[in-house]
Amino acid sequence: MSKHREQNTPSVTLKPGREKSVRQRHPWIFSGAVASVQGTPSPGAVVDVRAADGSFLARGYFNPRSQIVVRLLTWEEHEAIDRAFWERRLRAALARRDALTHDATNAYRLVFAESDGLPGLIVDRYDRWLVLQALTWGIATAKPLLVELLQELVAPRGIYERSDVDVRAQEGLEPSTGLLAGEEPPEKVAIVEHGLHFAVDLRHGHKTGFYLDQRENRRAVAAYAAGRDVLNVFSYTGAFAVYAAAHGARSVTNLDSSTEALRAAEEHLHLNGLARETDRALAGDAFQVLRALKEQGERFDLVILDPPKFAFSRGQVLAATRGYKDINMLGLSLLRPGGILATFSCSGLVSEDLFQKVVFGASLDVGREARILQRLGQGPDHPVLLTFPEAAYLKGFLCLVD
Ligand code: SAH
Repeated sequence: MSKHREQNTPSVTLKPGREKSVRQRHPWIFSGAVASVQGTPSPGAVVDVRAADGSFLARGYFNPRSQIVVRLLTWEEHEAIDRAFWERRLRAALARRDALTHDATNAYRLVFAESDGLPGLIVDRYDRWLVLQALTWGIATAKPLLVELLQELVAPRGIYERSDVDVRAQEGLEPSTGLLAGEEPPEKVAIVEHGLHFAVDLRHGHKTGFYLDQRENRRAVAAYAAGRDVLNVFSYTGAFAVYAAAHGARSVTNLDSSTEALRAAEEHLHLNGLARETDRALAGDAFQVLRALKEQGERFDLVILDPPKFAFSRGQVLAATRGYKDINMLGLSLLRPGGILATFSCSGLVSEDLFQKVVFGASLDVGREARILQRLGQGPDHPVLLTFPEAAYLKGFLCLVD
């Protein structure tokens, strides 16, 4: 049947019994599952993936340098990976966002990689600008075409690249940043989230400029802010604090190791007419500063813990859980009775289940009984494709603490 088609498309043949995950539409082929490679595909080239008996399973792009040697794009033998293919996938991703976020914000994720059938591609919209991240060789190869299509489909004022992420090294790619099309973005792009204003630096900000994935959680946390003294740990540019202040917090304290982020946090409070005498900005290592606050007897009614990613590989998970436990013990200790802890982990390798155990351990060790009021995750513009559970990376708990 399919064995004789497209003899000129290079293919990757799997070891016997290794086709199950492909049939279940998981989009990754690990090097360990591959028996042989037919032809000489270069990195980024399109290959067919075949079962041990030679039958067609799927098609994707190849990278021999990565542990994930193929990322799958289609399971249809007749679907070519051409311009029309990329256009269909981009259109579908855009259509998925139409129903979601338009009334709440002008900044959101337009394309979320595997979850949108476009492994390795991130596209975030910030008002009239797009920021693109190409995380894999296949996407880096298709980039000129993708930029052209995004111009046609979205008509942004400009497209800026922020492929300055560590995972590129695992693909054998150098970082790549700069203007891809249209106009240079201004120094700060003005965005609105749930009626609140932020000024985002697309060139130097974290990720593509802003933590878009926390949008819905900022609102969930703010719902508990009225009348409370709020400590926003790992504040970055203070988005949680702006929401809390807007929802009637008695005071907000931002804490971050970056003084630049703290300055931006202060500007964000001003921008929203929320700056007050009682605002505080604490610069330093969160672990040390929280310990000092605890010793000084400072207490808060709402503590937000949104640390950076602690686990980048399986080998780092244990150390990461220790870090999460420490920071949660400190956060819990700083709460007055009846306080709220909003605690997050963005390490994909730390499951929600494991994270819950860590927070449980922390509450037990500091002797503070806590109850989960709400489970939190990444916003709906970062959907989790059911065939790709790895897409779920952000998890959090809103806890009421006795
Ligand atoms: N909550 C933020 C995003 C937090 S990102 C938002 O909603 O926008 C994590 C932040 O932690 C970054 O700003 C980084 O500068 C800061 N950070 C990293 N390590 C830190 C440490 N040890 N102590 C304090 N801040 C740290």
